[in-house]
Amino acid sequence: MSVESNIKKLLQELPNSVRLVAVSKFKPIADIEQAYQAGQRDFGESKALELRDKHEALPKDIRWHFIGHLQTNKIKYIAPFVSLIHSVDSENLLQEINKHAEKCERTIDCLLQLHIATEETKFGLSFEECDDLLDSLRTQKLTNVRIRGLMGMASNTDDMVQVEREFSSLKAYFDKTKTQFFPSAPDFDTLSMGMSHDYALAIRCGATMVRVGSLLFGERNYNEQH
Ligand SMILES: *Cc1c(COP(=O)(O)O)cnc(C)c1O
Repeated sequence: MSVESNIKKLLQELPNSVRLVAVSKFKPIADIEQAYQAGQRDFGESKALELRDKHEALPKDIRWHFIGHLQTNKIKYIAPFVSLIHSVDSENLLQEINKHAEKCERTIDCLLQLHIATEETKFGLSFEECDDLLDSLRTQKLTNVRIRGLMGMASNTDDMVQVEREFSSLKAYFDKTKTQFFPSAPDFDTLSMGMSHDYALAIRCGATMVRVGSLLFGERNYNEQH
């Protein structure tokens, strides 16, 4: 199967209300061009420099999503153009993104990343930490960032009962947060959850955005230079 037919097949399967982010990390420009030919415009990357280089090389109507752990000293590489940062997991990071967005005279859309998996290694806020962050934002003016919603990654397991429990807990927290902190903000509308092996379940649990990589582009080889 080609990248182009993989994209078309998946797009047919997704409800219109769900946005597909094609995760192209570690994949060459040629693969992204193929997906672009198939009409795909949202792409996700997890490294700031790789994202900058791909943005420079590819058509300017692509919407670039940053989905990896973002270090504050790398924000400058993506701030001028990034469409959505999925992985904000601290107040400090949000403040730094705001500063860079101000310099670029733009508003950067962000999601807060929640830790819903059982694995220790994954990044993200606990529900309590996220509440605290949102509380603290009530009293500061971060004029150049806009919180569009939440992102989460389920545990890497075949136990779909557990994965469903994790996605459902994030959806419930999303609904609660929207009511509590964003009652009059229609643009708090994005729940990014679901990857190649669990996107269908994520959609059933309320995802509005899925991040799919290997299903479209094939397995990644982390050892190879791209
Ligand atoms: C790599 C990655 C994905 C895509 O994973 P696949 O299993 O290849 O679909 C999605 N989200 C995040 C945050 C990732 O780092």
